Amino acid sequence: MIYFQSLTQNELSELLLPLSLDRLGRRSRLEESELLIKAKKQARFHAQQIYHWVYQRGVSQWEQMSDLSKDHRAWLIANLEVFRPKVCSRQESPDGTVKFLWEMGDSKTVEGVIIPAAEGERFTGCISSQVGCAMKCAFCVTGTQGVERNLEVHEIVAQVYELRQVSPLTNVVFMGMGEPLKNLDNVVKACEILLDTDGMNFSKRKITVSTSGLVPAIAELGARVDVSLAVSLNATTDEQRSAIMPVNRKWNIAELLKACREYPLGSHRRITFEYVMLRDFNDTPDDARRLMKLVVGIPSKINLIPFNEHASADFKRPSDETVRAFQKLLVDAGMTATVRVSRGREISAACGQLRSAVIARESRSSDASQGLSAVTSY
Ligand code: SAH
Ligand code: SF4
Repeated sequence: MIYFQSLTQNELSELLLPLSLDRLGRRSRLEESELLIKAKKQARFHAQQIYHWVYQRGVSQWEQMSDLSKDHRAWLIANLEVFRPKVCSRQESPDGTVKFLWEMGDSKTVEGVIIPAAEGERFTGCISSQVGCAMKCAFCVTGTQGVERNLEVHEIVAQVYELRQVSPLTNVVFMGMGEPLKNLDNVVKACEILLDTDGMNFSKRKITVSTSGLVPAIAELGARVDVSLAVSLNATTDEQRSAIMPVNRKWNIAELLKACREYPLGSHRRITFEYVMLRDFNDTPDDARRLMKLVVGIPSKINLIPFNEHASADFKRPSDETVRAFQKLLVDAGMTATVRVSRGREISAACGQLRSAVIARESRSSDASQGLSAVTSY
C-alpha cells in the first residue's frame, strides 16, 4: 500500500498511466504512440481530479469520489491510502491554539500546532520534521529527547492535512519537533507537495523552514525548493551561541550569516531570524546592538521569542519590560522586530513539551513504556 501523501501529482499520474492505457486500449484502435499520448493526458487529468478531492475538498475515502470511474476507485482502494495519523492527544487553549500529538505508523509520536494570529484571520500550522531532534540546543525540550528517526514525506504532509481538517491554514512553518535540514530530501519533497496549486496550494512565501544553522544544507535547500527561510540565531557571539547551540561549534555565526546572505530570496522576501530570549543570558541592550550589526545588509526580520519555561532547562523568561526594551532598540534602528506572543502556554506549546509530558505520564503509569522512558526528560 502506498501512502497518497508521499506522491507528487506527477508521480500519481505515472502510477495511473497503466490504467488509462488499459482503458483506452480496450476501447479504441489508436496507433501505439497516439495511445500513449492520450493515456498520459488522461492520467494527468485523473491525478489532478484526485488531488482536488483529497487536498481541496478534504475527502480521504476513495469511494466518495463520485466523478471517478469505477475502475479508478477500485484501483485506488487496492493501491493507495490517505494516511491519517492517530490522535493521541488534542489540547485547546482559550486563545484558540490547538495542539496535537499524533502517533505515526510505528507508534512514534510527533507534535503539530494550529496557532491563530491575534485578529483571528490568519492561522499558522506548525509541524514537525523528525521524531525528536539530535541538535541538543540547551533551552529546547525536543533537544533533550534525542532523535529517533526522520519523518517520511507522507508523515510531514499528513500533519498539514490533519490541521487543515480543523482550521483553514494560511501559513505552514517547520518549527515543531526536529531539525528540518537533517531530513532535507523528505522536507523538500513535502514542500513541493504543499506548494502544488492543485493540492493545498500554499504560496512559497507562506511556507517557512526553520533551521538551527546547518550551513551546507541551507544552500541546498535554496537550490532545490523556493520557500522562506527562518534561522534560529538565538545569540550574538560565538561563545554565547556555542554554549546553547552545539551546532555553532561546527558552523559559526560568520559562516551561518554568509549562507543567509547567499540564500536565493525572491523579490520582497526576507529571512526570519528567531531569537529565543533567555533572562540574563542574551537579553541585554548590548546583545540587541550586536544583533543589529550581525544582520546588517540581510533582508530580514527578527522574531523575538521569550523563552517558554520548562522543567528540562534552568533558563528563565525575561520580563515583558526587558523584551519590549530589546525590541524597541531594534525597531528604533529601523529593523522589523516582532515578539512572538506566547500562545497556548497553558497547553505546553513550546517545541516538544507536549510530547515530553505525555511520555513522562506514560512512563509513570506503565512499565511497558520503558523504551520511551529513555527519552523522558523529567
Ligand atoms: N529545529 C529547528 C526548528 C524547530 S525549533 C530550529 O531550531 O530552528 C523552532 C524554534 O523554537 C526555534 O527557533 C527554537 O529556537 C525555538 N525554541 C525551542 N525551544 C524553545 C523554548 N523553550 N522557548 C522558546 N523557544 C524555543
Ligand atoms: Fe532541535 Fe530546533 Fe530544538 Fe535545537 S531548537 S534542539 S534544532 S528542535
